[in-house]
Amino acid sequence: MPQDVKHLVGPVKSSEWPHVRCPACLEGYLAPEFLETVSTAHSSRLQDQYRDEWEPDWIKGGFYGVLRCGIPSCGEPVIVSGDYTVGPDLDSSGRWYGEYADLLQLRFTQPPLSILITPPGTPAKVVAAVTGAAALVWADPGAASNRLRGAVEELLTSEGVRRFEIRNHKRNRLSTHNRILEYRRYESGIADILMAVKWIGNTGSHEGDITAGDVLEGAEILGHALRLRFDTTTEEMERRITRINKRKGIPKKRGAVTK
Ligand SMILES: [Zn+2]
Repeated sequence: MPQDVKHLVGPVKSSEWPHVRCPACLEGYLAPEFLETVSTAHSSRLQDQYRDEWEPDWIKGGFYGVLRCGIPSCGEPVIVSGDYTVGPDLDSSGRWYGEYADLLQLRFTQPPLSILITPPGTPAKVVAAVTGAAALVWADPGAASNRLRGAVEELLTSEGVRRFEIRNHKRNRLSTHNRILEYRRYESGIADILMAVKWIGNTGSHEGDITAGDVLEGAEILGHALRLRFDTTTEEMERRITRINKRKGIPKKRGAVTK
C-alpha cells in the first residue's frame, strides 16, 4: 500500500521518506534512489567562524533527489527538491538522545505527485486543473488552491451550469458560490461536496495562510464528488452479477477454450 501524500506536508527525516503512490502507473510506490543535501554558503561559513558554539541545527540549505517506482515494468523516476534543515532526532515518544537528523521539506516534484485519482470519464479540463494543483501544492499552496477551484468551475461548466447571467441588460459573471447553488437544484449531494471544496479555498485566499495540507484535503473531497458523478464501478459490478445469475455461471467469451 503506498503511503498518503499527506505525510509530505511537513518536514520529513530523510531516513523516513514516505513511499507515496507512483504518478505514472498509479499502482507502485516511489522509494528514494538518492536524496542529497546541500548547505547554504552562509551556514557553511558559520561552522568555520563559530567552531566552539556551533551546533548541527545551524545548518540550512536545499535538497534534491530521485524517487523511483518499485514496479519493474514501470520504473518511473520522479525528481524531487526542496528545503533542508537539521533538527533534533526525536524518538516516537518525543524523547531526544542528543542525535540530529536531516529534515527535508518537499517543494517541487517532476512529474507532479498524484493528489487524487480521477475516475475514467472525468472531463479533461477538470483533470488538467487537478494536475495543475498537484504541480503547485508544495511550492505555492495558495496558487494550488486556485487551480482546485478552477477544477470545480470546469466541472460545473461540463455539467451545463451557466457561467454568466444577464441583469439590467448587462452580462455578469456568476461567482463559483452562485454556480454551485444553481447546480444544487439538480445534484444536491454533489453540490454540497463542491461547496466544501470552495470553502477550503476561500479560507486560504482570504487569510492568506492556506497550507499544502488544506489543499490535499480539498483534493480528497473533490475526488469524492468526482467518484459519485463519474465512477461506474458499482453499476458495472451489478451488470456482471446480473449476467452471471442469468447464465448460472460466468458467461464464456466467444472463442474461449471450454472443457
Ligand atoms: Zn509506477
